[in-house]
Amino acid sequence: MQTKRALIKLSGEALAAPDGYWLHPPTLSTLAEDIAAAARSGVEIAVVIGGGNVIRGARVSAAGWIDRATADSMGMLATVMNSIALESAINAAGVSARTMSAVSMPTICETYARQPALHHLARGHVLILAGGTGNPFFTTDTAAVLRAAELKCDTVMKATNVDGVYTADPKKDPTARRYDRLTHDEAIQGNLKIMDTAAFALAREAGLHIVVFSIQEKGSISAVLGGQGRATTVAP
Ligand code: UDP
Repeated sequence: MQTKRALIKLSGEALAAPDGYWLHPPTLSTLAEDIAAAARSGVEIAVVIGGGNVIRGARVSAAGWIDRATADSMGMLATVMNSIALESAINAAGVSARTMSAVSMPTICETYARQPALHHLARGHVLILAGGTGNPFFTTDTAAVLRAAELKCDTVMKATNVDGVYTADPKKDPTARRYDRLTHDEAIQGNLKIMDTAAFALAREAGLHIVVFSIQEKGSISAVLGGQGRATTVAP
């Protein structure tokens, strides 16, 4: 099936520097060039980026000095920082990008609304969706599936550090086998750590395909969109 509109889910950690600093400009540029190349090929591209390189609400609130909802608000703000950094880098790569946030902050970026978001996509802008779902106790994986469903994306491309879903961690277990294809139920029952259960359950409800692939090699987004490149598809 030819992909017309794809949503790419990037973890915030994809932007982090090797020394742990939250943002690594060369990595950001490489990612932005990959996204720009995919957009130039004519596929409409939406991107959801997480904030785990800066803060994860559950971890911060577990320390006990702040409640979970407040810590999650901090996490959502982190996704906005990553989003506008990525927007700048995609613009610098020569493709127009727009950020819309589920958390309203009109002096920084547009507030997310479905119809204007669809217009941005139809005009060929890369659409970066910041602020997660706008609600605490969710993740940006769930936000990615939610936005992909409401914006009628053909697929969610979940970028990871490995080229698909394995029976065990391939970096630790040399006998681990890669799945070519899984159902949403298998992903949920197997408690696979690729995406959270809420995200898989919503994808199952919406009949959405999730393609799990590695972002480590340059050009991997276009390769997977073109049907090449190794990946695992989670589909009904
Ligand atoms: N977050 C939230 N609601 C959402 C999405 C994210 O509260 O809909 C918060 C939550 O604290 C989360 C943080 O933002 O830990 C960063 O998002 P996530 O952990 O999904 O980022 P990633 O792991 O993809 O970098």
